[in-house]
This record gives sequence, structure tokens and C-alpha cells, in this order.
Amino acid sequence: MKIRIERTAQPKPHADESQLGFGRYFTDHMFWMDYTPEKGWHDARIVPYGPIALSPAATVLHYGMEVFEGLKAYRRADGRVQLFRPWDNFSRMNDSAERLCLPQLDTEFAQEALETLIRLDEAWVPSLPGTSLYIRPFEFGADPFLGLHTVHHTQFGIILSPSGSYYAEGINPVKIMIETRDVRAVRGGTGYAKCGGNYAASSRAGMYAEKKGYTQVLWLDGVERKYVEEVGAMNVMFMIDHKVVTPALLGSVLPGVTRRSCIQLLKDWGYEVEERQLAAEEIFTALAEGRLQEAWGCGTAAVVSPIGELSFHDKAYTINDFQIGPVTRRLYDELTGIQYGRLPDTHGWTKVL
Ligand SMILES: *Cc1c(COP(=O)(O)O)cnc(C)c1O
Repeated sequence: MKIRIERTAQPKPHADESQLGFGRYFTDHMFWMDYTPEKGWHDARIVPYGPIALSPAATVLHYGMEVFEGLKAYRRADGRVQLFRPWDNFSRMNDSAERLCLPQLDTEFAQEALETLIRLDEAWVPSLPGTSLYIRPFEFGADPFLGLHTVHHTQFGIILSPSGSYYAEGINPVKIMIETRDVRAVRGGTGYAKCGGNYAASSRAGMYAEKKGYTQVLWLDGVERKYVEEVGAMNVMFMIDHKVVTPALLGSVLPGVTRRSCIQLLKDWGYEVEERQLAAEEIFTALAEGRLQEAWGCGTAAVVSPIGELSFHDKAYTINDFQIGPVTRRLYDELTGIQYGRLPDTHGWTKVL
């Protein structure tokens, strides 16, 4: 499919790279294409960034028919721009879309569209340390009627946002609260899909945790409320008895690209990694017995985020003296090193544009 390009007549001024924040500024252009069962994907186009027209009855607005992805483009020291495992994001987007009965993408074309868009807006990729171009592909049902049905007209878009570090605190330890009232996902539900609805369901707990001074919540499984699952927008890992334990992917946990990358690196370094169910009680027992060395969250936005405090039923527990542990630090340095092209990419994870 050919991509039609309509350049903006009014390029925007760039924001100060030291004041970017996360997801607040957008580049000059965006990508769109449409899908109908009759025509398949069609009308691929890059147009000036701006509001879109949508029927007030559009399926996405009433029934939450939406899936999305999140990845980054990084500015290398040599000035070129590179992507990290973008094929994994588009393939996961198809898994998410399948769960919501949204149409499948041609993942190679989607990546070509992304690369074309980034090349056009390449000057927007920031270069200050810690900054990157956050990429948000998304797909939603746009049928203009309220009847409940599987989606026909679907729109796929990509927008780009030059961003700073995800957390204002940077790679400092964060405080996390184990959520005991709300649940995020259950097996058989949409937990493994990256869909907007999951975030809608999580927002109350997140807001409550924030009010109490916590950065995000750690979810428990939705059935027994016993096993830890993941943190807000990150997967989670614990180092117990010098082995790494991370919740297994049983349907309610998002299969993170960062999670997969961390597991690979840890195995490369000779660590044992257990993907299994992990009861909250097991974490606190290990902590009490001095067998819990480190805990961290991992996801594209924050990369690796050390957990310095974990609260459970209104009691706060400090992990590793609220310090960044050596394995957390090493994962952060190695991953960001590969992502920014400072370290050799021995796994074929990056694509230089
Ligand atoms: C996106 C996301 C993650 C992290 O996935 P990455 O591919 O590593 O960015 C973890 N949990 C949830 C709920 C997410 O939406």
C-alpha cells in the first residue's frame, strides 16, 4: 500500500528538551489508515497532527473498542535514530486486537508506516540524556451506530511524543501499594491485551494510591487475591534467594517487551529466572527473613524502576533500604545502553533508521 503524505504548512516550535515531561507534546505529523471488511486496510496517509473527526456514536466512545501500543525511538550518540524491538509491539497489537475482534494489521506495513512517519519528523527525536520519542500506535472501532456488534469500520493511527523520563524522580526507588479492593484483570478477560478498557478499570485504585503517596499499585490476581500480577504499566520482578521470580503469563498479565528483554539479559548473566505464581505472603516472608534482595518494575516508559517501599493492608515495608539494587541498576544500564546504541546489541533487538 502506498502512503500518501501531506506535509504541514505550519511546523510547530519544539519544546525545551529539559522540560518535556511525558506524553504532553506531539510532533508535526501523524499516521492514519482505515479498515472496512469490504476494502481491508486502505487510505494510508501521513497528515498534519491535529484533531480528528469522529461520529458521536463511534463504537470506541461507548464500548471502549480500542487497543494500543507504546514504544520509543532513541537518539544515538552518532545522531541516528533507532527503534527497540518494534516488531514485538506490532505483533502484540495483533494479539490485543484479536481479543477485541478488531482487524489484524499487516505488521510489516505497520512498521514501514512508523518508520516513514519518524523519518519525516526525525528532528523531533530529542537528544538530552533520558529523553526519547514516545510512539503510540492505536486502533479503534469507529462505526457510527450504537448497536452492539463486532466492529466494521476501524481506524489505526500513530502519534509521536517527544518525552523526558517517565517518573519525575528518574531511576530513584518508588513506593508501590498492593491493591486489595479493586482488581485489574482475570483469566479469560482482557488482562493480556493492551486495551484502553484495562486502564479505565485500574484508574480508581491508581488515584487512591497516589493520594496516599504511592506511585502506582501492585495488582493481585482477581480470583484468590493472593498472587501478585503486575504494577500499573509495568511488569514486576523480585529477587529472592538470589533468584529472580516474576509472575507467569497466565492470561491476566500483560506480556511486556521489557519483561522479556530483562529475562533474556538475566539468563545471559547466569541468573535463574522463575516465571511462576508468586504469593504476596511469600514476598513478605522472604523480606522478614532477609531473603528478599531487590524488587523492580519494568516497562517501556520507565525502563526499570526499583521498588523501595511496598505497602500491604496499610503497613509499609522497606526493600533494600530504599536503595537501587545492583541487579536493578545493571538491568537499567544494560537495557538503556542497548536502546541508545551505546552498548552492542547482541540479540538483534534494535533497528537503526
Ligand atoms: C504496556 C504495559 C506493560 C509493559 O510492557 P512493555 O512492552 O514492557 O512496555 C506492563 N503492564 C501493562 C498493564 C502495560 O499496559
